[in-house]
Amino acid sequence: MPETLRLVPDPAGIARAAALLARGALVAFPTETVYGLGGDARSDAAVAAIFAAKGRPAFNPLIVHVADAQAAAALAHLPPEAERLAAAFWPGPLTLVLPARAAAGLAPRVAAGLPSVALRVPAHPVARALLSAFGGPVAAPSANPSGRISPTRAGHVMAGLGGRIAAVLDGGACPVGLESTIVALAPGAPPVLLRPGGLPAERIEAVLGRPLGAPGAGPRPAAPGQLASHYAPAARLRLNAAEAGQGELRLGFGPGDSPDLNLSPAGDLEEAAANLFHLLHEADRRLPPGGVIAVAPLPETGLGRALNDRLRRAAAPRG
Ligand code: AMP
Ligand code: MG
Repeated sequence: MPETLRLVPDPAGIARAAALLARGALVAFPTETVYGLGGDARSDAAVAAIFAAKGRPAFNPLIVHVADAQAAAALAHLPPEAERLAAAFWPGPLTLVLPARAAAGLAPRVAAGLPSVALRVPAHPVARALLSAFGGPVAAPSANPSGRISPTRAGHVMAGLGGRIAAVLDGGACPVGLESTIVALAPGAPPVLLRPGGLPAERIEAVLGRPLGAPGAGPRPAAPGQLASHYAPAARLRLNAAEAGQGELRLGFGPGDSPDLNLSPAGDLEEAAANLFHLLHEADRRLPPGGVIAVAPLPETGLGRALNDRLRRAAAPRG
């Protein structure tokens, strides 16, 4: 593969990216959550290339990105609660896992052989422009090697996948900074939170008027964001640390802290979410091999649930 193109997301860059997708190539693009690694969701070869570029296990299905709820309804059945969530939160950081339509034309590997499909309508203007120029569904997991930290800047994508994908649209830093919240909806079954993410679960529950269920135990994870070790930096993490020990790098939160790096000096969870992955990348850059990041405690409410989820997985023993 030749060098990865870094494209400016002006009309010419968007047209170039859409043309690359149309011929089956892979293009990373910014969304409001993290950078996605996009390929034509109807092309078996493009979808296979996404799994290969990431080193992603074939059992881990991909999120398909579409322009609007109407495009989603062409690919999957939306039960009434899905319609309500789509109306309330699309475009935005919510992925719905829905029963797939048989004749939707998606490459079978997108859903890893499951009868469901994960759909999202992204809000980022560059993602929207790309979907509109391409005119079809785009399969896009996070644009990082499997198991590593998700990218929130084009430089992160280049560092992880440069030379292995055709292009990256450089849209600057992702405003939300955490992956989408994933909710599974099947007719007759209660809605299930498969992964906490950039849309707080409390807001979804307020629209549904009932609590989200937890995923059942199965032979394999219902959503691989649930794998114990995931989103991992090279350094080790020590969570809920009151302060840094000798030689440790302090990742703080809030005004009282005197950290090497601070998720949010103001103690704001939205700011902490937007900074998390970038600061984990930065901590990796600063620490020697085997170094330790001492992470301040974060509240377990709102976006704090997704932040703590990512930190626990980053700290988990590596498989
Ligand atoms: P990523 O894009 O790398 O953040 O990962 C996409 C997430 O969506 C993974 O956790 C997938 O398991 C989940 N996902 C995608 N499709 C499905 C599906 N059909 N059923 C359950 N989870 C899904
Ligand atoms: Mg990912």
